[in-house]
Amino acid sequence: MIGAVDIGGTKLAVGLVDEAGRVVARSEAATGPDSTYFAGLERMTGMLSQMAKSARVEITGIGIGSTGPVDPLAGELGEVDFLPHWRRQNPAQDLANFFGVKVALENDADAGALAEAAWGAGRDKSRLIYITVGTGIGGGIILDGKLYRGVGGAHPELGHQVIDLSGPTCSCGFSGCWEALAAGPAMSAWFRSQSPENDSYRTAEQICQMARKGDQLARQAVEREAHYLGLGIANLINLFTPDIIVLAGSLMKSAPLFLEQIRATICSGCRFVPHERTELALASLGDDANLIGAARVWYHRFAGEGSVVEERPEANRGM
Ligand SMILES: [Zn+2]
Repeated sequence: MIGAVDIGGTKLAVGLVDEAGRVVARSEAATGPDSTYFAGLERMTGMLSQMAKSARVEITGIGIGSTGPVDPLAGELGEVDFLPHWRRQNPAQDLANFFGVKVALENDADAGALAEAAWGAGRDKSRLIYITVGTGIGGGIILDGKLYRGVGGAHPELGHQVIDLSGPTCSCGFSGCWEALAAGPAMSAWFRSQSPENDSYRTAEQICQMARKGDQLARQAVEREAHYLGLGIANLINLFTPDIIVLAGSLMKSAPLFLEQIRATICSGCRFVPHERTELALASLGDDANLIGAARVWYHRFAGEGSVVEERPEANRGM
């Protein structure tokens, strides 16, 4: 039985996941900007131990999916914005010491990509791109069943492809990134800027709800959102032409509002690749997706034929 840990900005979830990707036990605790790492670690070990005892199973490995930048091969958390006291801590090492098992850590978008590829919408597809659209846009790339990593294990930032340089400035240094134009807050900001009162803040989910009821401005916001989602996805199809693109995240719960226009945008600009063979699918693992993803991180790193022996490449000495 694999222990799964999902480290998020507002909550810490743990669970037990079997070899078919089913969550057999789950529990969670709150986190926040004031929460300390050592209190969090104690919660993780406490909840996992308790759960294994109740289920009368042995934890044979642990997978972790975490928000924010991580160093997956070292098992270390990076500059996690939401959890300042957790920066540079190493939950993979600490859990390995406590439980005496192998532990693997990935960014949560990569964990989601691995889970959908193995147990979800991307089963039997060898080239998959997973995109999650919510308060930001993140993603993961699976090529030939393995997670794609950049130099030194770096996680590529799909949400920071530039879509329109005249767009809003972004924290990455550019303007008009996909995330700055198409994540939930961008949809809310545009809606507010166009509404006559100019003071009514609506979440992206609320705007989608209003659009379904026929609100004119909300429908325009949906159209604009679908246009930008489509451009970012079309770029990924031109660059990778994957077998499947899996769409996840809170905004994709409203995907039926966007899909037709996304497909039209892809058709209008991907004519040099067989774009019609790239399937667009919705994430299929439901509310337990993060725990399932965390468990899959362990399988990807350590189990069976699909496992990957990864060592940190030597420092690039350049020319
Ligand atoms: Zn950016």
